[in-house]
Amino acid sequence: MTETQDKPALSKFAPAGFKPAAADAVPTAAPSVLFYDAVIFGGGIAGLWLANTLLRAGYNVILFEKDTLGGRQTLASQGMIHGGQKYTLEGAVTQHASSIARMPERWEACLGGYGEIDLTSVKFLSENQIMWPAGSLLSDVAVFGAAQLVNAATTKLKQPEIPDALKAPGKKFKGSVYSMPEKVLDTRTLVQALAAPLKGRLFKGGVSEILPDGQAAVDGVVMQAQMLIFTAGTGNEDAFKMLKIEKRLSQRRPLRQVMVRPLPEPLYGHGIVGKPKPRMTVTAHPNGRDGYVWYLGGNIAEEGAKMSEDETLQFARKELESVFPHIDWSDKQWATWAGDRAEPYDEEGHLPPGPFVQQRGRVMVAWPTKLTFAPALADRMMDKLRERKIMPEYKTEPPADKFAPAEVGRYPWEDAAWRKLRGA
Ligand SMILES: Cc1cc2nc3c(=O)[nH]c(=O)nc-3n(C[C@H](O)[C@H](O)[C@H](O)COP(=O)(O)OP(=O)(O)OC[C@H]3O[C@@H](n4cnc5c(N)ncnc54)[C@H](O)[C@@H]3O)c2cc1C
Repeated sequence: MTETQDKPALSKFAPAGFKPAAADAVPTAAPSVLFYDAVIFGGGIAGLWLANTLLRAGYNVILFEKDTLGGRQTLASQGMIHGGQKYTLEGAVTQHASSIARMPERWEACLGGYGEIDLTSVKFLSENQIMWPAGSLLSDVAVFGAAQLVNAATTKLKQPEIPDALKAPGKKFKGSVYSMPEKVLDTRTLVQALAAPLKGRLFKGGVSEILPDGQAAVDGVVMQAQMLIFTAGTGNEDAFKMLKIEKRLSQRRPLRQVMVRPLPEPLYGHGIVGKPKPRMTVTAHPNGRDGYVWYLGGNIAEEGAKMSEDETLQFARKELESVFPHIDWSDKQWATWAGDRAEPYDEEGHLPPGPFVQQRGRVMVAWPTKLTFAPALADRMMDKLRERKIMPEYKTEPPADKFAPAEVGRYPWEDAAWRKLRGA
């Protein structure tokens, strides 16, 4: 390797706040330092997908996960592989919508066993997502409008095809429901499938220091890599701190998801009312022998982030009673999951319309911005490696004698503090 400075293309992502440092110099480590092609920090979808891509391309890659694999946003996500319709709902065909539209094909190939990563062991919770009017007559118009704009394969469901969860027993659903061929994945099986080819390369540990020349310390062990890659979600902020970058480069957008159980029927989709955000986005997750846990996002989770847990649950219950009056909500158990969507911050303070990589010398900080975008993020990263002519080089064995293997994490509903609501 002979790199001594940033390539011009990289300066776009090298903001004024970056302190000059020798982070791009030729490696000069002592022999005791372990050398790898890439060391990744963060074992969510972004880090795991990228590690697979790098390994397949012949790079010697290891990954450190501070807690558990998939442990934060990935296992808390709704597992929806979006094809653009969600963003269409949020305001015509945005850049986000058009760049995400190609993603389902890529996933389809992997899930079908003919793509870049074998995801044939991933379970689907649903093959489709629906859009249904979740309010007034106006919302029927909004659903129709959205259905015209999105995926050409969107179909209007006939009455018998409309999910039971939307209908009172023996009654018809009033309004038009559309179905989109966009899958909802069981994200833990996704994390497991991505972890399998990386066996022996995924370790528990968090970086404590970034040193010059692509070196980093994890629990006192110093490693050196052609590329140090952060896919740590909110933990990416630690990378900026360690690099002493003062400029704001990331943002957190909070959510408070609502969980309710047991529901006898599953539901996967978006309840639309004509506002940019769905009134609620619902996914359903098997709850042992006891039906399903419904996991609610969309406007409920956005509003919930501004409220206490109690207020959120009362609000969610009212919303559910209004949208699903045929369901008895009084005997249910409730819980919430509060967390942040960790995202990059562009110059205007907007969410960039797709995956994003910020770079400082040998350190790359990567954000998928959506689970769906993990393959595109890996593409961006591979482009950067090619730009910088970084080729597979090191043969060092993974440090299995120094670190414990990282374990796969749990879903929010498995660890939730469930309770009945007062007045129920
Ligand atoms: C409630 C919710 C619902 C969502 N639903 C969807 C959806 O349906 N479809 C979709 O496409 N997207 C969805 N998203 C967005 C999607 O989940 C995220 O964009 C994606 O999971 C981010 O993946 P990641 O790997 O970057 O981060 P994460 O999944 O957060 O993984 C980062 C990992 O890094 C680890 N870490 C942190 N600091 C360190 C450190 N210093 N060293 C080592 N490891 C560290 C963390 O423990 C964590 O495991 C949703 C997000 C949320 C919050």
